[in-house]
Amino acid sequence: MKRAAVIGAGPAGLMAAEVLSQAGQEVHVFDAMPSAGRKFLLAGKGGLNLTHSEPFENFVTRYGPRREALEPWLREFGPQAVRDWAQALGVPTFIGTSGRVFPADMKAAPLLRSWLHRLRAAGVQFHMRHRFLGWSEDGNLKFGGPQGEQHVAADAVVLALGGASWSRLGSDGAWVPLLEARGVAVAPLLPSNCGFDVSGGWSSYFASRFAGQPFKSVAIRFGSFHRQGEFVATATGVEGSLIYAASALLRDEITLKGSATFELDLLPARGTQQVLAEAAHPRGSRSLASHLKSRLGLGGIKLALLHELVPKADLHEPAKLAAAIKALPLTVAAARPIDEAISTAGGVRFDALDGKLMLRQAPGIFCAGEMLDWEAPTGGYLLTACLASARAAGHGALQYLDDP
Ligand SMILES: Cc1cc2nc3c(=O)[nH]c(=O)nc-3n(C[C@H](O)[C@H](O)[C@H](O)COP(=O)(O)OP(=O)(O)OC[C@H]3O[C@@H](n4cnc5c(N)ncnc54)[C@H](O)[C@@H]3O)c2cc1C
Repeated sequence: MKRAAVIGAGPAGLMAAEVLSQAGQEVHVFDAMPSAGRKFLLAGKGGLNLTHSEPFENFVTRYGPRREALEPWLREFGPQAVRDWAQALGVPTFIGTSGRVFPADMKAAPLLRSWLHRLRAAGVQFHMRHRFLGWSEDGNLKFGGPQGEQHVAADAVVLALGGASWSRLGSDGAWVPLLEARGVAVAPLLPSNCGFDVSGGWSSYFASRFAGQPFKSVAIRFGSFHRQGEFVATATGVEGSLIYAASALLRDEITLKGSATFELDLLPARGTQQVLAEAAHPRGSRSLASHLKSRLGLGGIKLALLHELVPKADLHEPAKLAAAIKALPLTVAAARPIDEAISTAGGVRFDALDGKLMLRQAPGIFCAGEMLDWEAPTGGYLLTACLASARAAGHGALQYLDDP
């Protein structure tokens, strides 16, 4: 029997360990943190969106330019396989109204508990508080652990070290220089599904009154991106599901041009002409606020944003007011720091890997999960690709153990 090491006990590492242990290999899982799956547990606080039920042809488009690389693994272990896997761990799933798939109890802890139990029962050995530090001169894995520095020999290794967000949960991107030192090409780690700071910041009035408040049922238009949803104002900008959905485009535009301006439709359910007609309706002695409230149901944070961004004189010109309500330009100047992001773009480049996710520069070492150079929106696409890539890497490692 040969020995396989999996480094990183997030969902990707655990899935790779599962593939290897089910094939009867001796598997050791190492992680820097005191316990496994910390980010997975955090994801559970938001309901744990495991995957998505949309047709597979749509599902794979969510990976944008990386679709081609990911599709083969997703065909092997796609949305239905994720649901079957959870079910086999005693956790049934359901499809929410948006098509997203969740565990019946919306929690990560029971699923993780059951999974770890099954892995331990299959003989997987866990070595927590073991920080991967790279390779020793004789090619063994180097860890900093409770007993000081340790060198570990392994016949095959799966790295599943995650991205670089929420570093307090373990994934801090400190692996990048370790791999670069071995000649592995790594695309810069960038925030994905992240918030943004608005250009020039909010006024102190807006920030103090409206930070944390939601914009409900609004739409964003940015180039070919046009979607309805919700987001929230923060002390310095904007974040939340609708912003996350546009975040890769906004981030890339900021990189290119220094800022990105999207149009915000504050009343997507109403047509432009209707908004214009209501805005132009004679208001007599009523204030603008009560006019907009009664004619268009517009108030609160939406009205405050109009006051924040539109010159006062324009607010009193119905045509300009209506145009602002339907297409208010909002400029963002910077993505929030990667540590705050839901996920990470960039990572080990696909041209550094062979078709089995083995590093071309380092035979016997495979990579999986969020540390690879792909990104996807929220909606269950992240976990599904982490699990699918880990199965591919696990199978690759198995083959390598059989035939190095
Ligand atoms: C708030 C939040 C909510 C989310 N909700 C969802 C959701 O509902 N649905 C969804 O699909 N995705 C969600 N995600 C994203 C999802 O959790 C991640 O994509 C997924 O956990 C990545 O899995 P991974 O195994 O690749 O990496 P991780 O889960 O980050 O695991 C990496 C592991 O490697 C360990 N590690 C890192 N460096 C070292 C080192 N040098 N030595 C030893 N160990 C190391 C870490 O301690 C960690 O345990 C959410 C993320 C966040 C932050």
